[in-house]
Amino acid sequence: MTAPFLEVLAATLPDLRLSTDAVDLEAHRRDETAFLEPPLPLAVAWPTSTAQVAGIVRLAAAHRVPLVPRGAGTGLSGGAIAVAGGLTVSLTRMNRILEIDEENRVVVVQPGVLNVDLKTAVAAHGLFFAPDPASYETCTIGGNLATNAGGLCCVKYGVTGDAVLGLEVVLADGAVIRTGGRNVKDVAGYDLAGLFIGSLGTLGIITEATLRLIATPAPRQTLLAFFPTIEASGAAVAAMVRGGVQPCTLELMDAFTIRAVNAGCSLGLDETAAAMLLVESDLPGAAGAEELDRAERACDAAGVGLLVRAQDAAEADLLREGRRKAHWALEAMGASRMEDVVVPRSRVPDLLRAIHEIGDRHGMETGVFGHAGDGNLHPSFIFDRDDPTGAARLQLAEADLFRATLALGGSVTGEHGIGVIKRSWLEATRGPDAVRVMRAIKAALDPLGILNPGTML
Ligand SMILES: Cc1cc2nc3c(=O)[nH]c(=O)nc-3n(C[C@H](O)[C@H](O)[C@H](O)COP(=O)(O)OP(=O)(O)OC[C@H]3O[C@@H](n4cnc5c(N)ncnc54)[C@H](O)[C@@H]3O)c2cc1C
Repeated sequence: MTAPFLEVLAATLPDLRLSTDAVDLEAHRRDETAFLEPPLPLAVAWPTSTAQVAGIVRLAAAHRVPLVPRGAGTGLSGGAIAVAGGLTVSLTRMNRILEIDEENRVVVVQPGVLNVDLKTAVAAHGLFFAPDPASYETCTIGGNLATNAGGLCCVKYGVTGDAVLGLEVVLADGAVIRTGGRNVKDVAGYDLAGLFIGSLGTLGIITEATLRLIATPAPRQTLLAFFPTIEASGAAVAAMVRGGVQPCTLELMDAFTIRAVNAGCSLGLDETAAAMLLVESDLPGAAGAEELDRAERACDAAGVGLLVRAQDAAEADLLREGRRKAHWALEAMGASRMEDVVVPRSRVPDLLRAIHEIGDRHGMETGVFGHAGDGNLHPSFIFDRDDPTGAARLQLAEADLFRATLALGGSVTGEHGIGVIKRSWLEATRGPDAVRVMRAIKAALDPLGILNPGTML
């Protein structure tokens, strides 16, 4: 059925860019989960309008061809990897900012807009789009919505879903629906936007989003706190949360990550420390300084070693950039896989201890960084690329990590999503009845199972 499908698709949508070129297929095979070995897609399509997306979906449903929606392919859970015999639908050419509505402080965008381009465009109007995954320069808004991406300033401004007012979505039968719009309050019916946010392209293809903006905050003031023990850094995070300190960034890097970032970015961070916190305030002037004073007091109480404030905005940018590069810096240290676990924030010290115990138990170097202020950490267990036992040991370490996280009341994914790599942990995390409800929703919205099959469920 597949070749006739492509012929009919090309004939029905003659303006649609469609490719079966080997280079295009290879480029759309993987996302950032380099350890997976997915098949090549049947073809790749680059629609430029909602009507084209709806046309693709209608034909795919008629021909029972699986569809994989795709943004920039920076996902870390395998959500955008190709499916055998499937058409990958790249939304990257639907990349227009349709309207910046200053009066209502909203922006209307197509899904292929890069997060960085949206931030830049609204900044020219004195406005700020808060969601900022560390990959913000390369990932798309569609991908952010479909993963409900987090990032560095969630601790103050929430995740991507918190910025959504309305979506336009193409359903699995080609129908186009709208959920919400410019109303800041709207409770008519079920929260359908909430269904699609974080659904990893398994329930519909997002073709437009109406997003909430806020006034551009003041320039950030930045504090670095270096701790003699990893537990002390976790205790400082817990103390800040308990004390109501509300920085816009509260990020952690452990000793191994500090060394990796220094090696990659020459930042000169204190390598004698067991862990470092990056704390930023975007309150204006004296209020920002006062917020960092309170953060310092929490760090002092937890037994901090060295406290350093960035001299100016340029130095602060450099330090934040170092944190954003942590993933790549760790990848340069050996074979590794960035994990993504989250616990209640008071349990961060316990999670940090558990992560390092697990690394030691399985004989692997451990690098941890992440959004400590959200309780969301990204441990990487690292082994020599030539070590034939590495992958198997990593699997055991991962299972131990997920068990420890769940025992602390946490979840196996804070922001990257279940994708294909954590399917077997969904039930342990949510429970069988919740997963039954998820399957019922999937069956109701995509009865033929053509939207991103194999992802999440
Ligand atoms: C260095 C690095 C740092 C990162 N830092 C963060 C971070 O701080 N926080 C964080 O949350 N993530 C982070 N990520 C992961 C990733 O960047 C995010 O998940 C991002 O939201 C993915 O966007 P994308 O455009 O690349 O989507 P893709 O990877 O292309 O797709 C992701 C998922 O969304 C679906 N999808 C994409 N577009 C649509 C659409 N229009 N409609 C329906 N479904 C769609 C896909 O099917 C897939 O399931 C990081 C990744 C890297 C490599």
